[in-house]
Amino acid sequence: MRRVAALGCLATVLAADWALLRRRPRWIVSGLYDEPAHVATAALVLLNLPRRSDRWTAGFLAGSVLPDLDHVPLALSRVHPDIDDPRPATHCLLAIAPLALAATRTRGAPREYTAGAAAGALAHFARDLAVGTGVPLLQPLDGHSLKVPYPVYAAAVMLLAARAARRGGVLPAADGDAVHGDIG
Ligand SMILES: [Zn+2]
Repeated sequence: MRRVAALGCLATVLAADWALLRRRPRWIVSGLYDEPAHVATAALVLLNLPRRSDRWTAGFLAGSVLPDLDHVPLALSRVHPDIDDPRPATHCLLAIAPLALAATRTRGAPREYTAGAAAGALAHFARDLAVGTGVPLLQPLDGHSLKVPYPVYAAAVMLLAARAARRGGVLPAADGDAVHGDIG
């Protein structure tokens, strides 16, 4: 089961990036490829982590798309950004500081959700560093967008998929229990 999930996530990322590169869709359409690839990237990380609680996992997957919340008002505006425009201020470490702070100041469920969401946002940035115009991670100290070459990201997701597939048949599940699936 883990192997199927890992290969499915890898296929999602590579197919999305192939489409983004080859078709160069308009900004409003690019999210249909990019957001599933963000979730798939986060899922590949998740498949390689020790088992986490449902709450942490839910926070992590939500956090993996959270920095793109700024797309919602932009999508509703009359003029859309260009796919080559720099990413906005939600894409910096400072933007996720409140989540990290909340995770250190709370207990129980709020702590698990916020800690997961902060980690998920980092997974989001990991993809964005390699796709498009990069990420202005150090804003407001430094407005420059940081980038890593796409092949570095592609190699990382392939390694994560291979490692998860090699671990085989157990998926993280409710409250730390494991779901035993086929070794396929
Ligand atoms: Zn983003």
